[in-house]
Amino acid sequence: MNQELINRKLPDEPALERFAAEFAAGMQAPLTVYLEGPLGAGKTTFVRALLRALGYQGRVKSPTYGLLESYQLAGFQLIHLDLYRVEDAAELDYLAIRDQVDETTVLMIEWAAKGGQEIPPPDVIIRFSESIVARELSAFAASEAGQALLFTISS
Ligand code: ADP
Ligand code: MG
Repeated sequence: MNQELINRKLPDEPALERFAAEFAAGMQAPLTVYLEGPLGAGKTTFVRALLRALGYQGRVKSPTYGLLESYQLAGFQLIHLDLYRVEDAAELDYLAIRDQVDETTVLMIEWAAKGGQEIPPPDVIIRFSESIVARELSAFAASEAGQALLFTISS
């Protein structure tokens, strides 16, 4: 399954924040989301907006160097991965990502293609556009859970 269900123009950050709030409202663990698009496309900004929408008030930093940041929220855990700097998926062995994931985990992954078998398959893929002068996103369902979530968000 890889079904495009949502396409949104993102003329400014508030537009992305609105989408993140809708996504947060429908989101349920367990869930794995791949965030695609070039550097600067808005992947980390989306995760930050999502955490804000979920009521998280602390600092949300990009995991570009640490690879992983995790956040304890009411009833679930959000793990944010950025695999940009990974050259070989075996570098991720020590993080044992799959062992950190359970029924109460929401995973948000930037540059998931570098994760190989170390990361679970996606429920939702959010693809941010190449262009930053006409920003937009498309969201694809890759599982039934992902499809159910995207159906709660208007296209
Ligand atoms: P990525 O994680 O994809 O590399 P970032 O989320 O770090 O990119 O975003 C890069 C920059 O683009 C940030 O300065 C952010 O404020 C800005 N940005 C992200 N989304 C939007 C948007 N929809 N409209 C305007 N600026 C945006
Ligand atoms: Mg980023």
